[in-house]
Amino acid sequence: MSNQILVIIEHLKGNIEDISFEMLGKAREISGSAGAELVALLMGSGVDGMVGQLGIADKVIYVDDTNLAEFNPQAYCKTVSEVVANNQPKMVMIGNTSMGMDIAGGVSVDQNMPFIAYVSGISGDGNTITSSLYGGKMNVDSALSGDGCIVSVIAGSFKADAGRVDGSPNVENASAPDLSGLSIHFKQLIEPEGGDVDITTQEILVSVGRGIQSDENLPMAEELASKLGGAVSCSRPIVDSKWLAKTRQVGKSGLKVKPKLYLTLGISGAPEHIEGMKDADLIIAVNTDPNAPIFDYAHYGVVQDIFDIIPALTDKL
Ligand SMILES: Cc1cc2nc3c(=O)[nH]c(=O)nc-3n(C[C@H](O)[C@H](O)[C@H](O)COP(=O)(O)OP(=O)(O)OC[C@H]3O[C@@H](n4cnc5c(N)ncnc54)[C@H](O)[C@@H]3O)c2cc1C
Repeated sequence: MSNQILVIIEHLKGNIEDISFEMLGKAREISGSAGAELVALLMGSGVDGMVGQLGIADKVIYVDDTNLAEFNPQAYCKTVSEVVANNQPKMVMIGNTSMGMDIAGGVSVDQNMPFIAYVSGISGDGNTITSSLYGGKMNVDSALSGDGCIVSVIAGSFKADAGRVDGSPNVENASAPDLSGLSIHFKQLIEPEGGDVDITTQEILVSVGRGIQSDENLPMAEELASKLGGAVSCSRPIVDSKWLAKTRQVGKSGLKVKPKLYLTLGISGAPEHIEGMKDADLIIAVNTDPNAPIFDYAHYGVVQDIFDIIPALTDKL
């Protein structure tokens, strides 16, 4: 095993995703104290222009192949697996994102490497990993045995700015493994449909979760949102219950939003929801459970029944 931390760079439509910078910043901190080499793995086709944004890495391994032009879990999994086999890093960091979750499990099995998912914290020396269980309701610390490990990091756990460094890292061009005969083929990227309200452009969002209890209570939230000059968004169970359209869903399988104010009403703060709203300028959470994970991300929190808060706030406004 080498003294290397390998960060898998995620990008979509020509942009490196924030999660990549979040992991790079954290990996730099760990590599600094452990004397490890920080290596970024960039895969794609004709994306070498992105290397200049990865200046924080000691080295970028660049794999260019037309089969990697669009995200393909099978092709990406094979490629990461080969790079891991060749480099034997002591830690592989992958985003706990839709793309990353498609890669991490496969590489873990292929390379017989332990895999810790839903990681929200890593100690400065890299030896203790904090991860979530039960949709974020419980955290667990795992001590690494030193045999190498894959961690998938929840978006928003670390600061992206710490990893956003322009520069000219060393580049190692590596060839892709044999990607012929793949059984998964990319057909098209389906963008979320536009809805009656585009929640991605709203400055104020009042976001309801399962705590709202019934669609009959939605007008309360609509009234509050309208008094605030914003719109209503929601967590996934609200869409699954068909109380609101999919275009209102925030999160991993919904939309990413970055409003000035994100007010959550009865949302627990599962990692899949956090992924979509963690970048809001101001997060205010209302939840009756003082241990709800949403309070780890909120700037202000109110432990209170939303059916007390909503009318009181609406009256005040
Ligand atoms: C692959 C995958 C993708 C997913 N994608 C998404 C996604 O895009 N977006 C998303 O949101 N989820 C997503 N999920 C689901 C996610 O894991 C959670 O199940 C979901 O976010 C929980 O929604 P919630 O917080 O509304 O409900 P719950 O987790 O049930 O939380 C309800 C909260 O309301 C509080 N509450 C109850 N009554 C009141 C009251 N009267 N006043 C105040 N507080 C109250 C409770 O204390 C609780 O914390 C995904 C899951 C998977 C596996």
